[in-house]
Amino acid sequence: TNELLMGWEKMTSVGQLVSGIAHEIKNPLTVLKGFLRLIAHSSTVNDQYIGIMNGEFDRIEGIVQELLTFAKPESTLYENKDVRKIVEQTVVLMEPQALEKSIQLVAFNDSEPLTVHCVESQIKQVLINLIKNAIEAMDNKGTIVVRTFLRDRMAAIQVSDQGPGIPEPQLQRIGEAFYTTKENGTGLGLMVTNNIVRCNHNGYIEVRSQLGIGTSFTVFLPAAETDSTG
Ligand code: ADP
Ligand code: MG
Repeated sequence: TNELLMGWEKMTSVGQLVSGIAHEIKNPLTVLKGFLRLIAHSSTVNDQYIGIMNGEFDRIEGIVQELLTFAKPESTLYENKDVRKIVEQTVVLMEPQALEKSIQLVAFNDSEPLTVHCVESQIKQVLINLIKNAIEAMDNKGTIVVRTFLRDRMAAIQVSDQGPGIPEPQLQRIGEAFYTTKENGTGLGLMVTNNIVRCNHNGYIEVRSQLGIGTSFTVFLPAAETDSTG
């Protein structure tokens, strides 16, 4: 089993991030410009060109979208929330995307409330990113399991997939800004996820992966002191 604790060293400096953004946006722009020139010189509409251009626009849009949620989160309201509810709601939200690939998405929640002082929309974003990666890692069929439990006064949310797993050298790089193995990936999902969990919620993320068996990401968030007198 390959294991990793996503640490602070994954955090990218502003300089690295800015040069990464510039690079990642410049590439599709160069492609777009090239195809625009081709179109300008031809008299017919080429569907293949349009398709490629569309893909490049999507890429830029995806990068900008993820950076926006990173830089300017919708909400920064911290409230005591039961993470089991957040898991339930997010699983319902992601179910159609899983079913589209014939993947089952199931949640097993702890029997006790798991209260965390958190920004609900940010924890949802974390779960969406992890479930999305799990769906993308699985070809077709299989099950993604989301579990919640308490461990050492931390509320844990675990997303386990039956994908191919992550080889050791790649495991060391996940969470790095713009590191992706996907043709249409942004490589920003896990960087944003790690940032939300570590910087905004004093938590951490553990990754365990077994080649040919699957991968599980576990998010640990400090459990809130709930009122024990009532
Ligand atoms: P993206 O999804 O855009 O590639 P992420 O930051 O979400 O960016 O993920 C970075 C990389 O980590 C992915 O490209 C993939 O190689 C790897 N990865 C993440 N989650 C999984 C998973 N559940 N199974 C296998 N590989 C994964
Ligand atoms: Mg992703």
